[in-house]
Amino acid sequence: MTIAIYPGTFDPITNGHIDIATRASSLFEHLIVAVYDRPLKNLLFSTMERVSMAGEALKELPNVTVQAYSGLTVRFARSVGARVIVRGLRALSDFELEFQMALTNRKLAPEIDTVCLITSQEYTFLSSSVIKEIAMVGGCVDAMVPQHVARALKEKFHSLGSEAGSKVQIVSLRD
Ligand code: ADP
Repeated sequence: MTIAIYPGTFDPITNGHIDIATRASSLFEHLIVAVYDRPLKNLLFSTMERVSMAGEALKELPNVTVQAYSGLTVRFARSVGARVIVRGLRALSDFELEFQMALTNRKLAPEIDTVCLITSQEYTFLSSSVIKEIAMVGGCVDAMVPQHVARALKEKFHSLGSEAGSKVQIVSLRD
C-alpha cells in the first residue's frame, strides 16, 4: 500500500489545498494531510484549529486523514510509513522553493520521493495569505474556502479585533 503525506501549514485550508488533496487521494491508497505545527511564519490559527478545519473540509474522502506533526517532514513521513511527499505547484515562483525542498528531503531520506501536482487553473491565485488579507479587511472569501473556514476567519478577525483593538498588529500574515 502506498502511503503519501501532503504536508503544509494550512493556515487555513483553501479550495486550492482541497483540490490537491482530492487529486492525490485518487493516486495513493492513503493520504495523510500533515499539518506542520510550528512553521517559521506567523500563524493565524492554532494547530488544533488548522487540523480541525482541514479534517472537516476533507471528511468526504475516505482514504484521507489529517494529522499534526512537528520536526522534520521526512521523519514524520517515515514514522507513518509514507514513501511519497505530495506538494502543490501554483506558479514558477513556487517551483524554486519546492525544488530545493525536494532535493533536501531526498538527501535526508533517499527512499522518499516528492510528487508535485500542478494546481487547477481556477486556483492558481489562491493562497492562505491572500485569503487572510481579504478576510482581515472584511472581504468575501466564500468562493475560495469552504463555508466553515470562511466562518472561522470571520470569527477569528472579529475576536482579534475586539480582544486587543488597535493594538493588534496583523501585519505579517504572508506565507
Ligand atoms: P507551506 O507553508 O508548506 O508552503 P501551505 O499550506 O502554504 O504550506 O501549502 C502547502 C502546499 O500546498 C504547498 O506545496 C503549496 O505550494 C500548495 N498549495 C497552496 N495553495 C495551493 C493552490 N492554490 N493550488 C495548488 N497548490 C497549492
